[in-house]
Amino acid sequence: MIPTKKLVMIPGPVPVSPSVLQKLGSEVKAHTDPDFVAEFQCLLAELRSIMNCQGIAFLVAGSGTMGMEMAIANIAGEKDKVLVCSNGHFGDRYISICKNRGLDVTPMDAKWGRSVTPEEVDKELSKGGYTVAVVTHVETSTGVELPLEEMAKMMKEKHPEVLFVVDGVAAGGGVEADMSWGIDVYFTCTQKAFCSVPGMAIVWAGERALKKREDMGSIRESYIDYARWIPVMTDTKKYWGTPAVNNISALKESVRIMLEEGLSERYRRHRDHAGLVVEAMAALGFRILAEKEYRSATLSIFLYPPNMPVDDASFRAACADEGALLAGCLGEYAGKGFRMGHMGNLDKHMLVSGIAAIERAAISCGLDVKPGAALAVLQLGLAGK
Ligand SMILES: *Cc1c(COP(=O)(O)O)cnc(C)c1O
Repeated sequence: MIPTKKLVMIPGPVPVSPSVLQKLGSEVKAHTDPDFVAEFQCLLAELRSIMNCQGIAFLVAGSGTMGMEMAIANIAGEKDKVLVCSNGHFGDRYISICKNRGLDVTPMDAKWGRSVTPEEVDKELSKGGYTVAVVTHVETSTGVELPLEEMAKMMKEKHPEVLFVVDGVAAGGGVEADMSWGIDVYFTCTQKAFCSVPGMAIVWAGERALKKREDMGSIRESYIDYARWIPVMTDTKKYWGTPAVNNISALKESVRIMLEEGLSERYRRHRDHAGLVVEAMAALGFRILAEKEYRSATLSIFLYPPNMPVDDASFRAACADEGALLAGCLGEYAGKGFRMGHMGNLDKHMLVSGIAAIERAAISCGLDVKPGAALAVLQLGLAGK
């Protein structure tokens, strides 16, 4: 039997284009090679423009979690009072990272499936004393997208003294974010909607964040210290730690693909595909965890119907056999549904194949579904009907 090609439909890593993989497999250049130096510099300019960042884009080897640590280490010290908003698992991870650093942390949680709101954050910050606030743009454990533009504008207007940090790991490159809304730091990493392989974090720091770093003097960290990387990120001939040359070339190619599609087109496609996937899965009897006003464009959490004939592990194994890799749920939802990424360069073929695989798995697992029910919804939507 021919093995079924597995489509990676988890919230990162995502399928990577062959031209990006080719860059990874190409001969390793010296980090001082003038061609590489120029390519790296050009990529950094593109990254700044993608987020409309007036400061610096740091591109450093490490995963998204390193991005979380880098963002907070360079903006908050022991004297800072930090509000960390959590919409789920990754927000909770940020709270624990901040606590480990000995920061004065006040956590603010939303019920899973909902988001902290600008009104709630405004109310808390109005108590005074805060210097930094942190939110998650898209929470990967719940599929909740925070109303970022509204939140950032509220921050800028009502709490201009508070620096605003955004974990954009599951959003950046798939959902619009613009630092001029009032964002001081935004970060993501390469294996999510930026569609390259795992390995690097991208941290955008605006002018106010850079000023804050300067005011902090020396910090304990070295590898993730902005001050050490600023010379490199402003002049890629300089050296601090050896840049991940092949990863950087691969990301450059991925960003070329993103810019060729066009950012507004890309964000619109993510939003449209997300809507169609949700409708298609609803036709199979799956319920979406995130409440309607907070559904993310990059990933969704689908909950099993009440009369589910098989358990979570068996269902996802059946999906994998049919060619769709899905992720298990986290926290209180573990076993109750699955997480599906629909971010990156998913085209119509991939989307149809992925949903078709899930539909076949649903049929083989004995769910009460009409064959073609999900595909009918998807096909009509993709055909623009
Ligand atoms: C994936 C993710 C992270 C962690 O990124 P890693 O690359 O796995 O370290 C952090 N925050 C959010 C919102 C994520 O989706």
